[in-house]
Amino acid sequence: MTTATIEPGADLSALTVLREPFKPEQIDKLPKPASRDAQKGRCNECGGYHGLPAVHLDYVGHAQVTARLLDVDPAWSWEPVAIGDNGLPVFDQNGGLWIRLTVGGVTRLGYGDSQGKNGPNAVKEAIGDALRNAAMRFGVALDLWSKSDIHSAVEQSTAREWVIEAQAADGVDAIRDIWKQARAAGADVDTLDKITVLAQERMEGGV
Ligand SMILES: [Zn+2]
Repeated sequence: MTTATIEPGADLSALTVLREPFKPEQIDKLPKPASRDAQKGRCNECGGYHGLPAVHLDYVGHAQVTARLLDVDPAWSWEPVAIGDNGLPVFDQNGGLWIRLTVGGVTRLGYGDSQGKNGPNAVKEAIGDALRNAAMRFGVALDLWSKSDIHSAVEQSTAREWVIEAQAADGVDAIRDIWKQARAAGADVDTLDKITVLAQERMEGGV
């Protein structure tokens, strides 16, 4: 799999427009509560109703990304990397979708997932996410993507909370309950494994 394919005669100078910063009104705020059991309330910063305190990530949504692609190349296109026997895009075992995005004669890969959504919305979400991801590889909203490292920092602290809670639990059954809650909340495999190990240690210790 190559990361970029350039058609003969492609005008790379047009692609520099993709990298231009977005205006403040084109940037959305995505609240990330500091802890998973943060009390919900009206937020002074974004006006939304969510867990507080929270950090707010700047992000550029699918519609703005699409508008930017159209500005540069009205004939931009995408296609799934894999197509099944039924003629539809093939999703991987994680519910993710690989696509090829072509803008101004240059093709790059992108990957997206459904961000926990189900049904038809999951497909739309995965396509939108894959387009944002591929567009980022062209430089669209690149500065904002680098800030989304904060996103993973918040997720890591939430994962740590689950493990700390499991360590403090007073029995194997309580640890199993925490494992179930963590899984339902979308904790990653690493976190779930750590909780499993704690339960095993507790069983071997005979507590
Ligand atoms: Zn807010």
